[in-house]
Amino acid sequence: MKLDITRGIQKKGVDVPFDLVDSWGEDRWNGDTIAYVRPVAFSGTYMLADDTVLVRGTARARIQSPCARCLKPAFTDVEAEVDEAFRRDNGEEPQAADDDQYTYSGHVLELDEAVRTALLLELPSRILCKEDCRGLCDQCGADLNINECSCQKDLTHRNPFSALASLLNEDEEV
Ligand SMILES: [Zn+2]
Ligand SMILES: [Zn+2]
Repeated sequence: MKLDITRGIQKKGVDVPFDLVDSWGEDRWNGDTIAYVRPVAFSGTYMLADDTVLVRGTARARIQSPCARCLKPAFTDVEAEVDEAFRRDNGEEPQAADDDQYTYSGHVLELDEAVRTALLLELPSRILCKEDCRGLCDQCGADLNINECSCQKDLTHRNPFSALASLLNEDEEV
């Protein structure tokens, strides 16, 4: 995702609006492979103050990731505020404290890393396909959203609370 700042260079100190979209593919997050299923949108304004470009805007994406419980694809709409300064790369070695600051050269900013970081920070720590996803049986791997497997029934029979449990579950028994 690239931002051409030619207009901002001509009008320093003035907020210049921008509206960008870019198609991103797969990414890694918390050990999972995720995918941006729609083009990522980022719109806002930027301003040049001396050689530093201040970028402010809102990024939006729709992310597909495996459900934390059943591993089926889960979808999350995510929106993030981005507020970052890009320092012009003048060829000098960056100071230690500036190491993680974004830089640019010429008249184009590369925004991917700033937008990606902001979006991934907004993702919930566990993404579920639905709030009440019942997950997979840890014995046989059956998807408990589809049906109860026999491991669950065996457990119930061995459980001293089985009588109570089966009373409570009566409505759900097929
Ligand atoms: Zn699930
Ligand atoms: Zn099972």
